[in-house]
Amino acid sequence: MDEDIICIGCGAILQSDDPKKAGYLPASALEKAKNEDSDDVYCKRCFRLRHYNEIMPVDLNNDDFLALLNSLATKKALIVNVVDLFDFSNSLLSSLKRFVGDNEFILVGNKFDLFPKNSRQSKIKDWMRQEANRMGLHPKKIFLISAARQKNLDALIEYLNKASEDRDIYFVGMTNVGKSTLINAIIDKMGDIQNLITTSRFPGTTLDRIEIPLENGHFLVDTPGIMSNNQLATRLNPKDLESVSPKKPLKPATFQLLPGNTIFLGGLGRIDYLKGESTSFTVYAARGVTLHRTKTAKADEFYEKHVGELLVPPTGENYVGELKGQEFHTDYKSDLLFGGIGFVTVPKDCVVKTYTPDKIGLGIRRALI
Ligand code: GDP
Repeated sequence: MDEDIICIGCGAILQSDDPKKAGYLPASALEKAKNEDSDDVYCKRCFRLRHYNEIMPVDLNNDDFLALLNSLATKKALIVNVVDLFDFSNSLLSSLKRFVGDNEFILVGNKFDLFPKNSRQSKIKDWMRQEANRMGLHPKKIFLISAARQKNLDALIEYLNKASEDRDIYFVGMTNVGKSTLINAIIDKMGDIQNLITTSRFPGTTLDRIEIPLENGHFLVDTPGIMSNNQLATRLNPKDLESVSPKKPLKPATFQLLPGNTIFLGGLGRIDYLKGESTSFTVYAARGVTLHRTKTAKADEFYEKHVGELLVPPTGENYVGELKGQEFHTDYKSDLLFGGIGFVTVPKDCVVKTYTPDKIGLGIRRALI
C-alpha cells in the first residue's frame, strides 16, 4: 500500500483526487514525490502561497468551520464576512451571530462592479444592514468593493490597518463570494505584507487557516470557504457557473407584460406575472443567461421541452433541482431576487410568483435602482 505523504506547509495528506480539497497536488507531482521519497513536499495551495503570494481556497466541512468559529469567541479579533452582492442572503453567514461575541464584525459586499452605474451605494448598504439585522447580525461597518477590479479597496485597507493594531483579522465567507480574490488583492496592495511573506520562512499555515503576518505582529487570517447546497454555485458545472457569473455591469432588459405572462431566466429562474396592470419588468442578469417570454399557461410545458437548449444555463444534462416557486406582492417598486443569477425590477402593486431550483436565493427588496 502507498504510504501517505504529508504537505510540510499545512500538514494535510497529499492527494490528487480533488483540487478543491486540502492537500491537493497534481498526480504527476505526487508520483514524483513518492518515487523520490521526498520529505519536503508542499501541496499546490502552500506552494502557490510560498512562491507567488497567492491564496488558494480549500473547502472544509461545517463542523471544522464551527470549531474554528468557536475558537474566535475567546480571542480579540475583527471578523470580516465577505459576501457576494448577487447572492447576498446565501452568502451571509448566519452562524456567525453565536460566535462574534464582543468582537467587532464588519460586512464586505463584493462584486459591486456588477451593479449598473447609477446604483446608489447608500441604498445598497441600507438593504444589507436590514438583512443582516434580520439574521441577528449587527455589522459595525459595511464596505462595498470589487475585489476583481480593485475598486473601493483603499478605505477597507485603511480600516483593516487600524484595526490590526490591537488584534488579528479573520476573513470568513461562503465559497465563490470572492474571498480569495480579495485577500490576494489586499496582499498585493499592502507591499509590506508581500515582503514579509516572501522573507519569512513560511507563514503560519495550518489546515483550517492561513495566517499572514503583518508588520505590527498581528495577523490576517484567511479561513476556508464554506460550501452550501443553497448556493447555486455549488450546483452548476464550471462552464455554467462561468456563464451565470457576470464579468461586466449588468445590462437591463425590459419586457412589457400583462398578467398571464412568464419570463424565464435561462433554465434557472422563472417569474410569472399573476395580477396587476399592463406594465414593464426589467431583468438584470448575466449575458450568458438566455431570457424568454411565454404564456404562463404554457410555461411548464415550454420548460420541459426547452431546458438545456433554449433555456440555458444549465446546459445539457446538468440537473440542478426542480424549479419551485413562491408568491410575492409588491407594496412598492421592488427587486425580485434570484440569488446567484440576478434580479427583476417590478413596479408597485403587482402579484408575481418567482421560481428557482428548490427556491434557492428567492427574495424581495425595495428596488435599488
Ligand atoms: P472564493 O471562493 O470566495 O475564494 O471566491 P474566488 O475569489 O475564487 O472568486 C469566485 C468567483 O467570483 C470567480 O469567478 C471570480 O472571478 C469572481 N469574482 C471575485 N471577485 C469579483 C468581483 O469583484 N467582481 C466580479 N464581477 N467577480 C468577482
